[in-house]
Amino acid sequence: MIVTIDENSGFCFGVTTAIETAERELQKGTLFCLGDIVHNGQEVKRLDKLGLETIDYDDLRTLRNVRVLLRAHGEPPSTYRIAKQNNIEIIDASCPVVLNLQKRIREKYQAIHGKNTGAQIVIFGKKGHAEVIGLEGQTNNTAIVIESISQLHQLDFTRPIYLFSQTTKSVEEFQQIVAEIKKRKIENDTSEVVFEYHDTICRNVANRVKRLQDFARGNDVVIFVGGQKSSNAKVLFQNCMEVNSCTVFVSSEADLTPEILQQCHAAEKVGICGATSTPKWLMERIKQHIEHNNGI
Ligand code: SF4
Repeated sequence: MIVTIDENSGFCFGVTTAIETAERELQKGTLFCLGDIVHNGQEVKRLDKLGLETIDYDDLRTLRNVRVLLRAHGEPPSTYRIAKQNNIEIIDASCPVVLNLQKRIREKYQAIHGKNTGAQIVIFGKKGHAEVIGLEGQTNNTAIVIESISQLHQLDFTRPIYLFSQTTKSVEEFQQIVAEIKKRKIENDTSEVVFEYHDTICRNVANRVKRLQDFARGNDVVIFVGGQKSSNAKVLFQNCMEVNSCTVFVSSEADLTPEILQQCHAAEKVGICGATSTPKWLMERIKQHIEHNNGI
């Protein structure tokens, strides 16, 4: 059995920068982080041990005169307002790609706001996801969030539609949604009504898919390492499954059951890969665990 870690898996530059910022700022004193710094419980635990305290929005409202780090997902304008009111120093580690998307949505909202055209800003993303909350905030929470084609009934095809995407969604699904909106506009005889779509999926994620699938294809068993809360992990895991049905999702070595370990040891090639939120050290630890435990 040969166990290989995919060299293209692991933190994207947005997450790497946020974590480096946290480590650097922790050396200067107490630091809070609004929400889990990354959708990976193991990495959150590691930083917690270094002193990074995770807080939620209720905590933010009650805290005064402290330093709070904003993670790569970005935040809505209300977070900055609360921080200002409470004399909280913001250490802003929002990813520049997300900030740019926020700006584009904000500008679109400002351009259509008050024009009485009934225009709809639509975000293809996961409702309640931190990044999506930040994006909705740019539209004063008027944007319509759709998670899949099945939710397109929320749109009014007789009114203008401006579609954007959460950065970590799948390009294929986005394209399917665009095609379906075009189709329904034809069916509704509203083809002349504005439909603008912006593929704002982060290429840091999208470009990984092909390489990840090549990696998955080249192994007999694939161990995909990701956090349960990570939407990027869910998408990339599905991408692996598409090309190799012997792919297993684990969050830590505790998820490696005797059956999975036996499956690995019966294989010639085992590949370990992960999401943009999966730390390299965790994939390394899982490799060691597989090599030293055969499940019997
Ligand atoms: S996936 Fe892209 S947008 Fe999201 S944090 Fe990473 S680099 Fe930034």
